Amino acid sequence: MGIAETSESLKARAETAPETLTDGFHLLIDALKVNDITTIYNVPGIPITDLGRYAQAQGMRVISFRHEQHAGYAASVAGFLTKKPGVCMTVSAPGFLNGLTAMANATTNCWPMILISGSSEREIVDLAQGDYEEMDQLAIARPFCKAAYRLNHVEDIGIAIARAIRSAVSGRPGGVYLDIPGAVLGQIMDAQEGSKSLVKVIDPAPRQSPASDAVARAIEVMKGAERPLIVLGKGAAYDQSDDLVRELVEKTGYPFLPMSMAKGLLPDVHPQCASAARSMVLKDSDVVIMVGARINWLLSHGKGKQWGEPGGKRFVQIDISAEEMDSNVEIAAPLVGDVGSCAKALLDAMEGEGIAPPTDWLDAVHTKAEANMAKMANRLRNNNNPMDYHAALGVLKDAITERPDTILVNEGANTLDLARSIVNVHKPRHRIDVGTWGVMGIGMGAAIAAAIETGKQVLAVEGDSAFGFCGMEVETICRYKLPVCVVVFNNNGIYRGDGENWGGGEDPSTTVFVPDARYDKMMEAFGGDGAWVTTPDELRQAVTAALDSGKPTLINAAIDPAAGKESGNIGNLNPQSIVAQARYPQVHK
Ligand code: ADP
Ligand code: MG
Repeated sequence: MGIAETSESLKARAETAPETLTDGFHLLIDALKVNDITTIYNVPGIPITDLGRYAQAQGMRVISFRHEQHAGYAASVAGFLTKKPGVCMTVSAPGFLNGLTAMANATTNCWPMILISGSSEREIVDLAQGDYEEMDQLAIARPFCKAAYRLNHVEDIGIAIARAIRSAVSGRPGGVYLDIPGAVLGQIMDAQEGSKSLVKVIDPAPRQSPASDAVARAIEVMKGAERPLIVLGKGAAYDQSDDLVRELVEKTGYPFLPMSMAKGLLPDVHPQCASAARSMVLKDSDVVIMVGARINWLLSHGKGKQWGEPGGKRFVQIDISAEEMDSNVEIAAPLVGDVGSCAKALLDAMEGEGIAPPTDWLDAVHTKAEANMAKMANRLRNNNNPMDYHAALGVLKDAITERPDTILVNEGANTLDLARSIVNVHKPRHRIDVGTWGVMGIGMGAAIAAAIETGKQVLAVEGDSAFGFCGMEVETICRYKLPVCVVVFNNNGIYRGDGENWGGGEDPSTTVFVPDARYDKMMEAFGGDGAWVTTPDELRQAVTAALDSGKPTLINAAIDPAAGKESGNIGNLNPQSIVAQARYPQVHK
């Protein structure tokens, strides 16, 4: 009996002994649960509405969002925080497409995530006969993920979920798409056979050690270093080998530079942290050890002025993905493996090799960092009216220092660039931001996932534009009573709030918003707390109250509309043309 049983006899059993049967809905839930996946991020609708209800009935946590993109961002951030794939569930065609942006972003960031979308009748879709929400979702998903699968039979659910999990977390993690035609959810089969069809993935992301000759090569490069540097990336944060990374940094004695989401892997206030001397260490170092960080646009591709003399550097790179090596510059010593195993191998091989940074290099880095921090400290204490970014961020820096367990979420342009360098992070995986793409609108999904997955207090520091992409999810925050405090840096617009219509017409400039918009009322509309603050003192009071209460809160912080820079720190990425410059004297001022 079981799989081979005819549908006629199954139907008969459904009438007389339904408890001996199971269905696609329940097998899917069981397949996730057997793999310790206990949370789903979703937006209900046809054909997955009941799937969410049943999952909740079966003891899973199901977090319903207002838009699939944010459910997807939440799932991907859950993946980053937990090393287990975050699961996002959506309806067909439009819901699927809304979730696709988040899955593509997960793949780009190397975060494990599974997008499960219901789809319409296969036979009708494949003949393009105009079904309800007709779309060939599997084909569309493929270029945006590590792997895409469709299951067509109820008895394949167990193996399909296993395959999706392993694809998402093994090797370089990424997004996986799983297409579930609605009809499969309603298929029934014998309950015992169903239970046997489940697969628990054993060792989903096997550890991978580098070969000993590769380690020896890296040690040789390190021995020749006069001005060494370690760059930590979010791959290192993801790996959760926090103690080994710390040991590597401290035993080598090398200065380290955290990429933005690796901040806190070692505390930003660690004596070897070189963040405040970033330009100097990138330019002057001679050996750079990349640890779970790609040499991409965020590091000027390892070339150009920022990196000093051409050819003046030798790189050691630790990465789980072999094809990452030499992506932009020659890697003198590639170490392919997981961060923990590679760090351990280096630590073992370093014994007795006398690896330590020359003290004059350490002193020089230290002196530079101290000087830059002193300069910054003064700016943070200003009392300018209207309030500027530095004064507001000085307050938030103190708030995080007093409560280092708080998870910081951060997006925007100037709000992002300045918070990244001003607000220290003290613990691993306590900063979530716009990632590799610099995506806007990840903030509320990230805040919700951080609160759900860790149970910790979250502080989301949002530019007003970035917040606009995901603001409706404050209802989700209120509905689930999450300890999230959102601070909107309200400068009345994108980059700056003082833009003008260059044609002189009635319409506002393309980059400005309604001035003094009361975003705080949005949180109040759903039962949370709101505050409108215009001075650093008011901001300090409001943030302290919010973090103490743990209540959903939105603090609307008025920032000088004239304080921002066009495109923040990456204005250089705007295309330029001499024609435009001649026509508009204001261009890219
Ligand atoms: P950042 O933006 O912080 O510099 P990136 O996203 O550019 O970080 O780089 C992360 C890198 O980490 C990717 O190349 C990815 O292959 C790698 N990676 C992900 N997980 C692991 C792991 N467990 N061990 C080693 N490398 C990893
Ligand atoms: Mg703004």
